[in-house]
Amino acid sequence: MPDCIFCQIIKGQLPSAKIYEDERVISFLDINPVNPGHTLVIPKAHYKTIFELPEEELIACMKVAQKIAGAVFKGTNAAGLNFIQNNLRPAGQHVDHIHFHLIPRFPQDNFYTSWPGKPYPQGELEKLAKKIIGCF
Ligand code: AMP
Ligand code: ZN
Repeated sequence: MPDCIFCQIIKGQLPSAKIYEDERVISFLDINPVNPGHTLVIPKAHYKTIFELPEEELIACMKVAQKIAGAVFKGTNAAGLNFIQNNLRPAGQHVDHIHFHLIPRFPQDNFYTSWPGKPYPQGELEKLAKKIIGCF
């Protein structure tokens, strides 16, 4: 995809602090990290979101992401690590080439520590579970 900045990184047309590469997957440091060591793992093939990503690409990314998560955790002396993937603008996706964030975490780093969970109204949880099951 010529206009995609991550495709350009894959082709070597844009610089990156690359930390891993194989035939399917590449990983490099995020240029604007939540914390130092914030790393992205991406498939070399251009897919926009988790919805389109073929299973074999997903598996390849997950295997690499698990290895790199350990290295990022150790290499940054982190106290925790978030594994995050955003799909579409309302969910915070800004680069339309699927990517998995590995974010090392430190006490009081001002990234989130909890999200605003709220209970369902009576009966809604079961109803929605059934609806989602109907969409497989
Ligand atoms: P998202 O908001 O989930 O789409 O995340 C996109 C991420 O890509 C952001 O964290 C950016 O800082 C990061 N990013 C954008 N351009 C580059 C680049 N050229 N090299 C490394 N990371 C980048
Ligand atoms: Zn791309």
